[in-house]
Amino acid sequence: MKKLGFIGLGNMGKPMAANLINSGYSLTVYDLKPEPVQELVAAGAAAAGSPREVAEKSEVVITMLTSSPHVEQVMFGPDGVLEGLEKGATIIDMSTIDPIVTRKVAAAAAEKGIKMLDAPVSGAPPKAADGTLSIMVGGKKEVFAECQDILQTMGEKILHAGDIGMGEVIKLANNLAAAVAGIGAWEAFLFGTKLGADPRTLFEVMSASSGNSWVLQTRIPYPDVIPNCPANNDFAPGFTADLMAKDLGLILSAAGAMKFPLLAGSLTHQMVEAAKANGLGHKDWSATCKIIYKLAGEEI
Ligand code: NAD
Repeated sequence: MKKLGFIGLGNMGKPMAANLINSGYSLTVYDLKPEPVQELVAAGAAAAGSPREVAEKSEVVITMLTSSPHVEQVMFGPDGVLEGLEKGATIIDMSTIDPIVTRKVAAAAAEKGIKMLDAPVSGAPPKAADGTLSIMVGGKKEVFAECQDILQTMGEKILHAGDIGMGEVIKLANNLAAAVAGIGAWEAFLFGTKLGADPRTLFEVMSASSGNSWVLQTRIPYPDVIPNCPANNDFAPGFTADLMAKDLGLILSAAGAMKFPLLAGSLTHQMVEAAKANGLGHKDWSATCKIIYKLAGEEI
């Protein structure tokens, strides 16, 4: 089994790293925060003092960081991963970041004879804990094949999405669709209930009609209509508004770099930013429905 390194032990990274340890991999870990490092050391990992040290001790380094600047810092910064990896090693970046940054890291890695996959995931922390994430992988097919065992430890549905960066492109496209659909579903609830509809009846009818969607089935504004809905628990995440705003920012930045507009995406980004400005950044992104209601003079 290959010697692995894992950097970024947050809500997603920590349970993913724990699954690798439980599957028998020897793992060296690093995070800016000491607590998750200590927990994983107790579970059998070795701690490193920097990304470079992780890289020096690993054949494959996995990163699960917040966004593009964090990945650039960990890869290119002083004591970064690229200083420590040997020729022939592999980077698997599982963070959701700008695909343009992915390609920049991959190009710098390739100059040193280091392989790279981008492998962002879909699924919240419970799926990370169960090892049932969906993983979209960009990069050379032979590198994808070499890393299958590692990816299967963390995910259930693992898809080769194309060349380097394509995992990120497809992940971001999916989040764009989900976020825009959210605004549509929540406005439908606002409209229906303002005009007197019962939210349960509205949910039942929409579920069996053309207004149905994944967002409708998981994230409606009203509590106790569907199980496991963030509204049942004061919008506890799930996937936070902070992360959804970050992803929409990445989407608009990449579209801007390619010089084309995304109108619904821009509006949706501003709605999620409004949720953040109203103190909802750490809530599930579906708490954005509160802003839609507020604009109509309603509390939800
Ligand atoms: P998180 O903020 O909980 O974890 C990020 C971790 O990276 C933190 O522990 C932080 O301390 C660490 N970190 C940041 N900069 C660092 C550095 N320079 N060196 C070392 N460690 C550093 O985020 P998360 O929820 O685990 O998400 C990680 C990625 O996965 C994000 O890109 C997110 O968009 C994506 N994602 C999250 C979810 C979810 O439901 N949380 C679902 C799918 C995808």
